[in-house]
Amino acid sequence: MQFTVAIDGPAAAGKGTIGRALAARFGFAHLDTGLLYRAVGALGGDPVAAARGLTAADLARDDLRSMAAGQAASVVAVIPEVRAALVDFQRRFARAEGGAVLDGRDIGTVICPQAEVKLYVTASAEVRAHRRWLELGGDATRVLAEVIERDARDMGRAEAPLRAASDAVVIDTSALPIEAAIAAAVALVQAKL
Ligand code: C5P
Repeated sequence: MQFTVAIDGPAAAGKGTIGRALAARFGFAHLDTGLLYRAVGALGGDPVAAARGLTAADLARDDLRSMAAGQAASVVAVIPEVRAALVDFQRRFARAEGGAVLDGRDIGTVICPQAEVKLYVTASAEVRAHRRWLELGGDATRVLAEVIERDARDMGRAEAPLRAASDAVVIDTSALPIEAAIAAAVALVQAKL
């Protein structure tokens, strides 16, 4: 069986938590596509060469979750050749036997426009920054500024900007407990299976 769940949305909206929960619930494979861009940004040097030569070991680095790695990812993510180098891997993953959940910024719009279920998970910048701050610490004002800066870069780029697909179901987690968001996502997948 091939079945793809595409989850897009800005940083710290809850995409990863919902994606992992769906994967566990339905036995789907899960790919956090942000990790691909984080690994390219962390490698340094020529980002296009880094994207073309990305290995499993690059994705296993333990320094990819920081705010700095997120910013570096969003800088290399504007480069069309970087994005192009990562398309085939993501599409193969999406159509693997047994079902797949991919979360990112352009999954429902560019990578898997035919996905069976498309979600756009969002929340206010303040709520998302607060979550990041609880997770990573640091200066709260600076964390908010970085979240806003990264949103603007991801939404404003020419190639595959972050936006909801026209047929995506929007889940706003600003005031919604994560359990309720997961339950809504589970119900949508169940209805399509
Ligand atoms: O989701 P995460 O915060 O790990 O993503 C890091 C950055 O990678 C994003 O801010 C975005 O610039 C880029 N990205 C992307 N397309 C994706 C996933 C992530 O451009 N599908």
